[in-house]
Amino acid sequence: MPHVSHSPDSMFERVCQRFDEAARFAPDYPPGLLEQIKACNAVLHVQFPVRLPDGSIRVVEGYRAQHSHHRLPCKGGIRYSPNVTREEVMGLAALMTYKCAVVDVPFGGAKGGICLDSRHEPAEVVERATRRYTAELAAKNFIGPGIDVPAPDYGSGEREMAWIADTYRALNPTQLDAYACVTGKPLSLHGIQGRREATGLGVFYGLAEALDDPGEMRRLGLTTGIDGKRVIIQGFGNVGYHAAKFLREAGAVIVSVSTHEGAVLDPQGLDVEDVHRYVLETGSLRGYPAPQWYSDPAAALVEPCDILIPAAIEEQITADNAPRIQARIVAEAANDPTTPEAERILLGRGVFVIPDIYLNAGGVTVSYFEWLKNLSHVSFDRMSRRYQENANAKVIEAIEALTESRLSDEQRARLTRGPDEIDFVQAALADTMVQAYRAIYRTWRERGLPSLRTAAFLIAIEKVATDYLTLGIFP
Ligand code: NAD
Repeated sequence: MPHVSHSPDSMFERVCQRFDEAARFAPDYPPGLLEQIKACNAVLHVQFPVRLPDGSIRVVEGYRAQHSHHRLPCKGGIRYSPNVTREEVMGLAALMTYKCAVVDVPFGGAKGGICLDSRHEPAEVVERATRRYTAELAAKNFIGPGIDVPAPDYGSGEREMAWIADTYRALNPTQLDAYACVTGKPLSLHGIQGRREATGLGVFYGLAEALDDPGEMRRLGLTTGIDGKRVIIQGFGNVGYHAAKFLREAGAVIVSVSTHEGAVLDPQGLDVEDVHRYVLETGSLRGYPAPQWYSDPAAALVEPCDILIPAAIEEQITADNAPRIQARIVAEAANDPTTPEAERILLGRGVFVIPDIYLNAGGVTVSYFEWLKNLSHVSFDRMSRRYQENANAKVIEAIEALTESRLSDEQRARLTRGPDEIDFVQAALADTMVQAYRAIYRTWRERGLPSLRTAAFLIAIEKVATDYLTLGIFP
């Protein structure tokens, strides 16, 4: 495989470069297999008219890249941003292929983009663009429960997913599994508990597992555990807010959070819920009463902390700021936040980089559970909760009889409680993140690889290659 050493311009090239770095350590595969895995299988580019509130028409551009069809459906979010490009969605789609492989989610990778600022456009414009984009995908067979299943990403959330589900359902009124065409839906529209916070919670579980390693923490000059760690988070949207929330609940000190408008910083620690309320009420982080405000959000990245979590957009940690970053751990919640050059600088300085294709996989993991729930038309708790409660009650009664004592009603209620959907989702997410971390870490150490990222890519390459060879889809 060619080893590209220049700093690539597009996200897709950067992902390919990282693939190539890991492929050097892969076993010998039949000629052409690695090239096929790396290639983006299909890209749809659409342009469609959307009526604006003043009656005029705007032509909106959209993309959907299906990076890999080795497993179906393809899966990946839809990004809403005026800056979306073809190369960007191809790069994000490729990351999805490797991400799904790393956490054993049986999907190929995809990603979509709509060139629209969903935060500032009127809701009716975003709705019209979303519905029309969905119709374009449906017309080209780029959406469907067994074909390609979108989800939220930067600039989109439950509202957009509801419009997509509703449009797809209207176009396929007799399709039994129609609601499995998209994940990240509101609970009232066949969503699943725990999807909203899944990516941030996955970041939390992944970090908690990394911080649990005494040897690694000693090397970094840190104590084990989340409690007391100083954390800077870039981006305070779905992923950034939820990561901040769970870390703070576990005792971390959130020193700084930021949005595209700027960053707030308090060395004593921010009240994450209070900041979140402020942003929801005012629509902005600007003006939040914190000791320090930076109108350039990037300025906060180099402030003192133990853990830096980029959770906004790509290419935020660069060769320019990497030498000044004070964090000992960079935990990539965003996709592609660290340039290859910056990563080399960080690794050279002994910084521990937890890569995006592992760390932000919580979203697609819980999306997988939502898709399964939609296909089975029953929630995970429904078939087992009462059975489990009855079984728990019998064990308690037996223990009470043997010990000739009685639990209080409160103790009994706590111990007999059966699992809700959220309990299944969070336990399965925690298990997924822990198992995947251990596999990456072991691969990194045992095979003497340059970074955790290389280990994660190598694991993904080997899993996808095995699929190609065993599913009979490679000629
Ligand atoms: P979001 O739209 O909910 O929030 C994005 C946040 O980033 C906003 O607060 C925005 O103001 C901020 N931001 C934008 N540019 C910034 C800058 N230059 N400096 C500081 N803040 C900036 O998006 P999200 O869903 O939280 O996604 C964030 C990242 O996580 C993206 O890279 C996305 O691809 C990735 N991701 C998201 C999910 C998911 O489930 N939503 C899953 C995996 C990965």
